[in-house]
Amino acid sequence: MARHTLVTVAPRTALITKSGFSNYDLCLNPYVGCEFKCQYCYVRFFVKDSKAEWGDFVRVREHMGTQLPKELLKGYVKVTDGKKKEVGADGTFLRDEEGKFIFKQTYKNLNITDSRLVIGTMTDPYQPKEVKYRIMRTALQTLVDKKYPQFKKVGIFTRSPLVLQDIDLIKQLPNPRVHFTVTPYHDEITRVLEPLTAPADVRWNVIRRLKEAGIRVHVNVAPVVPILSEHLIEKWVEILSDIAPAEYFVDPMQPYQESFSAFAQACTKIEGLDWTQVRDTMLDKDKYLEWKQQYRQRWESARKKLEHKCPDTLPIWCDHEFGTWVDMRTNKSMDNSRYGDEEDA
Ligand code: SF4
Repeated sequence: MARHTLVTVAPRTALITKSGFSNYDLCLNPYVGCEFKCQYCYVRFFVKDSKAEWGDFVRVREHMGTQLPKELLKGYVKVTDGKKKEVGADGTFLRDEEGKFIFKQTYKNLNITDSRLVIGTMTDPYQPKEVKYRIMRTALQTLVDKKYPQFKKVGIFTRSPLVLQDIDLIKQLPNPRVHFTVTPYHDEITRVLEPLTAPADVRWNVIRRLKEAGIRVHVNVAPVVPILSEHLIEKWVEILSDIAPAEYFVDPMQPYQESFSAFAQACTKIEGLDWTQVRDTMLDKDKYLEWKQQYRQRWESARKKLEHKCPDTLPIWCDHEFGTWVDMRTNKSMDNSRYGDEEDA
C-alpha cells in the first residue's frame, strides 16, 4: 500500500532552543515529525498532529534560511532555567490560597560561542523530504558561515545515508560529531519496525565514509531489545572493531508507555517472533534487569577479544537503572554532561 505523508509548512517559531540532551546546550530541528516512523520512537509522545499519525506527517521549517541568521546574529539564546519561589514585596516567599509556595519560571541567556549545539533531537534532520527541501543543508550553510557567531561544538543525530551529501559542510562545522544510529536487528525485522530506513550494511558504509572524511563518528547501537538484538552481538562487535569509530553507545530500549504499545503492535507482525517472551521480559523490572546484565556480559566478552583492533574507541553502555553512561573498558560511570568536551578544548 502506498504511503501518504502529510507535508505542511511549520509555524515560524524559534529555531534554536534548549537541548534536553545532557551533553549539548542548545538544539535545532529542521523538520517536525519524522517519516522514518520507527515503531519504538518516543518522540510520538511530544509531537502530534490532529490530521495524521506519528510517521505520516512532516512539517518543513521553511523559515530556516531567513530566521537562523537572525537568531545567530543576536549572539545568545534565552532558555528556561528552572523554577524559583516567588518573593513578595516584604521579602517573604509568596503562597497560594492552600498555603503552597508559588513558583515562577526563570530564564538565562546562553552565549552562542560558549554553547554546544545538537541538530536532530526531535526528528531525524535527514528526512526523505530533505532531498527536495534542503532545509538541513540551508542550516549547515548558515552555521559554517563566518559572518555569524560560531558554536563551540555541533553534533548531528541521524540514521540516514543522506548525511553523506553534506560531508563538505559538516567538515567545516566547529568540532563536528555525527551520532549515527544503527538499529540492532536483522534487516527483515528493521523493515517492520522502521519502514523507511536503510539496511544495516548501508549504514555501516555511511559510518565508514564519514570516518574516512575525517569526521568524528559516534555510533548509536539502539534500541537494544531482548531476542531481536541477541543474534547480532558478535557480528556487530566485529564490525565496530574494524571501523573503530571514536565511540559507540549500546542502549537498551526503555518501555515507555505510548511508544511501547506501537512497538508491541508492530512486533506481533514479525513472523516467527515469540513476542510474548519479549514483552514479558521487558515489562518485568527484575527480568529485564537480569536480561540487560546478560546482554552486556555477552557484549563485553565479544568486545574484549577484539579491543586490540580499536584501542582508541570508547565503548559506552547506557545504564538506565542508574541514569548514567558506563565506560565499558573501566566499568566506571562517565560525566555525560561534559562527555567529549575535553578533546574539543
Ligand atoms: S528516526 Fe528518530 S525521530 Fe524519526 S521515527 Fe525514528 S527514532 Fe523517531
